[in-house]
Amino acid sequence: MGTLNELFDPDRVAVVGATAREGAVGRAVTSNLLADFAGETVPVNPNYDEVLGTACVDAVGEADADVAVVVVPPSIVLDAIEACGEAGVENVVVITAGFGETGEDGAARERRLAEIADEYDLNLVGPNSLGIMSTPSGMNATFGPENALPGGLSFMSQSGAFVTAVLDWANDNGVGFKDVVSLGNKAVLDETDFVDHWGDDEGTDVIIGYLEGIEDGREFIETARETAADTPIVAVKSGRTSAGAQAASSHTGTLAGSEKAYEAGLDQAGVIRAESVDELFDAAGILGSQPLPDTDSVAIVTNAGGPGVMATDAVGDAGLELASFTGETTEALRESMPEEANVHNPVDVIGDADVDRFREALETVLADGNVGAALVLAAPTATLEFDELGEAVRETVEGFDAPVAACLMGGDRTREPKRKLQAAGIPCYFDPARGIESLATLAEYRDIRRREYAAPMSFDVDRERARDVLSSVHDRDDNRLGVEAMELLDAYGIPTPDGEIVDSPGRASEVAAGIDGDVVMKIVSPDVLHKSDIGGVAVGVADADVADTYEDLITRARNYQPDATILGVQVQEMVDLDDGVETIVGMNRDPQFGPLVMFGLGGIFVEVMEDTAFRVAPVSEPEAREMTEEIRSAPLLRGARGRDPVDVDAVVETIGRLSQLVTDFPAILELDVNPLVALPDADGGTNVAAVDVRLTVDPEELDSEEPNQ
Ligand code: ADP
Ligand code: MG
Repeated sequence: MGTLNELFDPDRVAVVGATAREGAVGRAVTSNLLADFAGETVPVNPNYDEVLGTACVDAVGEADADVAVVVVPPSIVLDAIEACGEAGVENVVVITAGFGETGEDGAARERRLAEIADEYDLNLVGPNSLGIMSTPSGMNATFGPENALPGGLSFMSQSGAFVTAVLDWANDNGVGFKDVVSLGNKAVLDETDFVDHWGDDEGTDVIIGYLEGIEDGREFIETARETAADTPIVAVKSGRTSAGAQAASSHTGTLAGSEKAYEAGLDQAGVIRAESVDELFDAAGILGSQPLPDTDSVAIVTNAGGPGVMATDAVGDAGLELASFTGETTEALRESMPEEANVHNPVDVIGDADVDRFREALETVLADGNVGAALVLAAPTATLEFDELGEAVRETVEGFDAPVAACLMGGDRTREPKRKLQAAGIPCYFDPARGIESLATLAEYRDIRRREYAAPMSFDVDRERARDVLSSVHDRDDNRLGVEAMELLDAYGIPTPDGEIVDSPGRASEVAAGIDGDVVMKIVSPDVLHKSDIGGVAVGVADADVADTYEDLITRARNYQPDATILGVQVQEMVDLDDGVETIVGMNRDPQFGPLVMFGLGGIFVEVMEDTAFRVAPVSEPEAREMTEEIRSAPLLRGARGRDPVDVDAVVETIGRLSQLVTDFPAILELDVNPLVALPDADGGTNVAAVDVRLTVDPEELDSEEPNQ
């Protein structure tokens, strides 16, 4: 696959299947191209000499095109693409539908299409695409009703209908684009390819996407990270992948839906996520036109008390803060404002303010080094002309580096001033909260740019021993492993308490005698998903009761499921839960993003608490640490209500070791360490203990992995 420069900037575009027949897609595409495209449009159709007044060639081989747009019927589309390849056309946009989206036959045709593309090294968009656009040359190679206005946004969409809807809206609102692509079924080119291309594209200021899925999560994360360091990426993600919803047999599997994977993956990729179309274009608009703020502190200048309070609330909700002004600023405001004005943030220039007072106040706060960004917020009054205010804002911001947004609250009177502000790159809204959220997007992107990505955590581990433990699935007809696989953790340096699995009451007593103090005893059975649910865990068993408890646990398992496979009873050292915190570290393999690591508050109520953080593995140290900081119960780890803080470093290290384990072994489909007991920092001691493990292994995948890779 070559670069995509020619795809968006061709000299000649062939329309394979061009026609003048009313209502045909081939007509719409041809006429759209003929309307504005600065290059040559070449209709291809053996049935015509000309189409819409333009000479038509018989075959794509005669078109000498850089891009071929294919609109022929599904039955001949593969031949048409092959002909493009033979003719040396490197870029092909397949508009024809009837592929993977239509069932088995279509899916087979789509696989064949991908093979042909591969054979000829084609940059292929689609199939089932609305087409592509690029405004510098006026190229509209779509069958949509509108061409885009020129601008700095490059837009990819997995839905063609969404493209036409957005363009219709954007044209009314003066929002312009550099390139537009309807991704279609993404048989060849996908979101990662376009992010990669636009990251290096001069004319693209902001990349925006409407995505329903991501083909290769890990690749996307890596490419997007690099791109987002220079070019902001904003995406709306909709839809849930059903492939992710296989029946889970772990806590992590239950909690880690595909939505969590996208949330984590897009965040790690440095993609700003929008929840709605409004948010998408608010974010894209301000990112494309305003500078980034140095700090999170916002100044608000308003003539309206109530909306000022709304904006102030929004500042807190958006994770920003109200700037506190320097003495100099307050002094200057006091001098220039009437006595009743509020010279602290939010600055209230009060109801009788005219444009000069607004201008003065805005100038003063923007000159304050404590101010990272400013919002001008005005309600209509008899003394204020919105048009003049807009002009004053446009002039004032010229002299400063901080981003500014405006909220003009009103109806018709705001239309013209708003248009002029937006044309000058100053976003303008009605709702104060929307203004603040847009400023918050700038702060979010600034933080993304400042990110330093660290290498994944990596430790000296005993990979061969881990493989041996995993291979034990070969000797049984169940691919779920429980505490009998505890050694797996040990091989990766994750501390586990002493313990042994025994198959008789006598042996249980012997093992217990060798362990200091009371013991914990657990039923060991692949058929028992959560042992304590069936009374299969006995905590604090005195040596004298060990033999009876053994019998008791076996009986409980038998009562629960008479034919359950029982591997024995684990006799385990007790871990001090009074001072410790039960956490969970786990992994679920996501179809798009691969291993998704989870950390959270653990114990038997994990699903009830749902206090968890996710990252796509392999994770770096800062990422693992963030996970321990972002759960709601984070204060518990750091010592709440007079308790000693636990050894967070040991927890972070455990997350890293587990991340390494699941990255090393794709055969591990899901895994829970629950609980991982985090203990107070005791010098030199082991401050975490993995007391339980549960995992599912894919035996075939295990065999296909290269040993010692
Ligand atoms: P399951 O999750 O299958 O019910 P666990 O082994 O996680 O079984 O045990 C359930 C609970 O019992 C744990 O959450 C913990 O509170 C307690 N527990 C288990 N093992 C120990 C241990 N070695 N020391 C102290 N408490 C334990
Ligand atoms: Mg458990």
